[in-house]
Amino acid sequence: MKFEKRPLSFCSVLCTCFFLLGVSQAQQSQPAGQGQPAAPPRRGFVDAPNTLPYDLLLTHGHVIDAKNHVDKVTDVAIKDGLIARVGDNLNSKDAAKTIDVTGYYVTPGLIDLHMHVYATPGEKNSYAGDNSIWPDGFTFRNGVTTGVDAGSSGWRNFPDFKEHVIDRSETRVLAMLNIVGAGMRPNGIEQNLDDMDGAATGQMALKYPGVIVGVKSAHFTGPEWKPYDEAVKAGNIADIPVMIDYGSRRIERPLYDLLATHLRKGDIYTHAFSGHRGEQDSTTLKASAAMLIGRKRGIYFDAGTGGGSFAWSVAIPLLQNGFPPDSLSTDLHIDSMNSGTKDMLNVADKFLAMGQSLQTVIQEVTWNPAQEIRQPQLGNLSVGSPADVAVLSEEQGKFGFADMYNTKLMGDTKLICQLTVRSGKIVYDLNGISMDMWNEPASSDPKLSPHWTTFRLRSFGTARPPVQAPATKK
Ligand SMILES: [Zn+2]
Repeated sequence: MKFEKRPLSFCSVLCTCFFLLGVSQAQQSQPAGQGQPAAPPRRGFVDAPNTLPYDLLLTHGHVIDAKNHVDKVTDVAIKDGLIARVGDNLNSKDAAKTIDVTGYYVTPGLIDLHMHVYATPGEKNSYAGDNSIWPDGFTFRNGVTTGVDAGSSGWRNFPDFKEHVIDRSETRVLAMLNIVGAGMRPNGIEQNLDDMDGAATGQMALKYPGVIVGVKSAHFTGPEWKPYDEAVKAGNIADIPVMIDYGSRRIERPLYDLLATHLRKGDIYTHAFSGHRGEQDSTTLKASAAMLIGRKRGIYFDAGTGGGSFAWSVAIPLLQNGFPPDSLSTDLHIDSMNSGTKDMLNVADKFLAMGQSLQTVIQEVTWNPAQEIRQPQLGNLSVGSPADVAVLSEEQGKFGFADMYNTKLMGDTKLICQLTVRSGKIVYDLNGISMDMWNEPASSDPKLSPHWTTFRLRSFGTARPPVQAPATKK
């Protein structure tokens, strides 16, 4: 059980206490976490009560849970959407469904801190529109159970975003509000200083605690400090962090000043390895003085690799010289989904290829981002936490990983998501490890299946035909 010392751990004890104070009340009434909607129910299920102690039991997996310092082969039991127990030799007779995950890693569901998923408005060249992607098509197959939309909507269009995407997605979608009221949109809309209203943004965030988890500024090209200072104003009103994409590099607003004075402890600087705005010292190639003062002050650094925000020539020297990220994220949108970034596990693979341990990388996609957005019920496998779980395998081979300049770093490990559990139910199963062979009888009571899977056992309400075929070789 060894975890590399991470910048976040300096304050984790203090932060945890602070979180507990703020969260305990909300959790008493809403155990699934601060008013966040549960995944919408699938059709066609009759919910027979499960009197067994557990709904789903994952046995013999290598559990990596950074918050609880677990890094060993053990079992994870789930009941009523929550983690019920983590421990050795749990009995499969106590669970409606048991899956042997020997040889796989079992981690908290991944959190992608930076995505763009406000796809519905259909506006051209707009992150509140065509540039966004639908979350469920990209999350579960990567073990991601929580995706944070980083500023695609602002306070004016957040209700529309919530109604059309957040409330209809099986992924737990959280949001950072753009400081621009009209959101992340083209034709000068997102540059409009007059629509950057910290008070209105903060007030909207107060209406949706636990769903709006931050404030975002992005892509700003002007010399003014207003976008950042208004974002902080909103953050102070709603007591949430701000995330900064620092836009164009301007001599009038040096990165050092942003990180030394304008941002607060606990705010988030994304695109940390782009090199676009002075993240790297041009002489030593190490992290710049701005980055060092930011880290010293407790600002978090997020990867947000995106379409044009990750360069090997920046990331490798920074990591080699002691400047790892606090969190990994994709900045997923219609360009980054097929170019260098691809998906969350590909981002994780890149940091493995740079020499980070699997334990560290898992921490950077689970417990660290949960702390950054102050949602300490997520990103861990504590008893009582929402049962969001990823089951991952490691493929060994020769793999190339791309950056924004179409250059690559070779690595020998690729993570594959085998199974994803969201709020206690299987939502993705790549190789059918939860499933019975087609020509063998059911190994668990089908009536109890709604307790552990979202998959319909029968299509169109018909029963599975009796097994008649001769047994074939498995
Ligand atoms: Zn982005």
